[in-house]
Amino acid sequence: MTAKILDGNALSAKLRESLRHRAAELAAQGHRPGLAVILVGENPASQVYVRNKIKACEAVGVHSERYEFPADTPPQKVLDRIAALNADPKIHGILVQLPLPAQFDEDEVLEAVSPEKDVDGFHAENVGLLAQGNPRFISCTPYGVMEMLGAEGISLRGKEAVVVGRSNIVGKPMTLLLIGASATVTVCHSQTKDLAFHTRRADILVAAVGKPKMITGDMVKPGAVVIDVGINRLPDGKLCGDVDFESAKEVASLITPVPGGVGPMTITMLLANTIESADRAAGK
Ligand code: NDP
Repeated sequence: MTAKILDGNALSAKLRESLRHRAAELAAQGHRPGLAVILVGENPASQVYVRNKIKACEAVGVHSERYEFPADTPPQKVLDRIAALNADPKIHGILVQLPLPAQFDEDEVLEAVSPEKDVDGFHAENVGLLAQGNPRFISCTPYGVMEMLGAEGISLRGKEAVVVGRSNIVGKPMTLLLIGASATVTVCHSQTKDLAFHTRRADILVAAVGKPKMITGDMVKPGAVVIDVGINRLPDGKLCGDVDFESAKEVASLITPVPGGVGPMTITMLLANTIESADRAAGK
């Protein structure tokens, strides 16, 4: 069996087209959606991510503002900027690009963002709402994964889902969403004793680890849906996922590539959350 490849670029393009229409409707009513992105320091990967997010905003008609601070910025300066953006009616989403330099307490910064503008879904209030099954904002990467599964018409009810990774950004919210969709979910992490035992039982396997090609074809159940969240740079400069695509695609029924799988969906869901936030603000 050779798996069908889930094309995140194609699905993103389709979703962004409908988001562009929604943004234009809101703008016509005087509520143009707005996203502010805060970047601290000169991390090259973060700079690329921020550039891509701003470009994506422009393409769908979302107003964007970019605030850059040098790496040695005192945290209070960034907190003051967040407070100003919380009060700014032009801004419906505030994103703080992670990681932050060492002098920052990341939790303090994320909690400073108004939960009503927390389009990344990282604020404790929004995490709590998601855990209760009543989400306000769903973090963008797991949200994108759910959209990809939904677009393929994959039913999760009663399926064995295995999530590898338990980070606050991907693994945990992914787990909550899969539970919400009535999958039976196992979460694996660095202390899991026999990873392959678990992954081989997965009808739906989500890898979010950050280790190049660590999930090989022999760890995949025949016919499984394999979602590769990992983005890793190889010594030759190429990107690869946490899944060994070549061997896994011979076993899986559906698989996401890296690049061109989950990555573009993450930015699309950021746009969706920002537009949704503007919609809510307009309704107030
Ligand atoms: P983190 O480093 O925060 O978390 C990694 C998780 O993997 C941890 O829970 C860790 O376990 C677990 N882990 C580490 N080693 C193993 C192992 N040998 N076996 C099983 N589990 C292991 O990473 P993120 O969640 O932030 O990101 C994961 C990957 O996804 C990265 O490659 C990142 O670049 C990518 N990413 C991609 C996005 C996209 O848009 N496609 C968005 C966000 C991230 P423990 O908790 O025990 O340490």
